Amino acid sequence: MNKKIADFAAAHGFYCDKKRACGLYNGYQVSIRFDSTTAFVGFHVNLGEKTNAVLSWLTITKKKDFRIANVITDSSGFYCIFLAWTAGGSLKKAENLLREITDYMKATGVPCEGCPYCGRPMEKPALVEDQSVLFYAHDECFNNKYMQVAAAESAESAAPNHYLNGFAGALIGALAGCAVFAILFAIGYLASLSSLVGALLASALYSKFGGKNNKVKIVIVTAVTFVLIIITFFVCNIVYVDHLMAENHLYGSATQMFFRLIRMDAEVKRAVIGDLLMTILFTVIGIVVNVVAMVRQQKKTSSTMKKY
Ligand SMILES: [Zn+2]
Repeated sequence: MNKKIADFAAAHGFYCDKKRACGLYNGYQVSIRFDSTTAFVGFHVNLGEKTNAVLSWLTITKKKDFRIANVITDSSGFYCIFLAWTAGGSLKKAENLLREITDYMKATGVPCEGCPYCGRPMEKPALVEDQSVLFYAHDECFNNKYMQVAAAESAESAAPNHYLNGFAGALIGALAGCAVFAILFAIGYLASLSSLVGALLASALYSKFGGKNNKVKIVIVTAVTFVLIIITFFVCNIVYVDHLMAENHLYGSATQMFFRLIRMDAEVKRAVIGDLLMTILFTVIGIVVNVVAMVRQQKKTSSTMKKY
């Protein structure tokens, strides 16, 4: 993908590095950035009194036409977001957005000079990095935003962390995943996706119940999901054995019978171990997907900001 971005940037006279290209298009400061599966086409402009006109044109009149997933605004402009399947297709789409949107802003009278943060003219523009892309702005406007972001982040990290509440949330979320597992098991499926459901719900409820997103959250959510799904696996199997015993008028402990069957019957042993390994595999996949999401959310906004 990098080669295609570099070619695209060269054709437009954009600066380019890694998976981003930044420069002037139609006189406006713009950028294109790729983030694993997502493309961000940025317009670093202060819309001022045209804010409502431009945003409603973009999100109501043209959203379908442009096939964009979302538009986000920031104090330094706005971004069109879409899923980037292929580099070629995404760059074509980005090019179309750049052309149509800058044309529209020109026609609407949005000035292309001026600081993206405040809109006032720039005598000594400074090169800054915000939202991981580069553009020119007032030094002090950037500093002000950076200070606000850093203050909000340090207030958040100083706020109390409710581990116990978070743990309770994770427990409820993981149990919901276990319930899905048990229901699917009962109708004869080994429920591969239920661990992912459990992991995602555990993560969401951990935060909802007041736990902060940090390393402890990753450990708690991962451990709770893993342990509960594995316990559920054994409980489901033992309940199944209990049913079989009742049907065959056998009495005694289903748990003992389950482990005895594993010891005595090679076929049962193979089947149970196979199912257990599949369950562990899918639980690990679910947990990894979840951890990637949590780590991504942990990235601080201030880490996407830099001054040159
Ligand atoms: Zn400014």
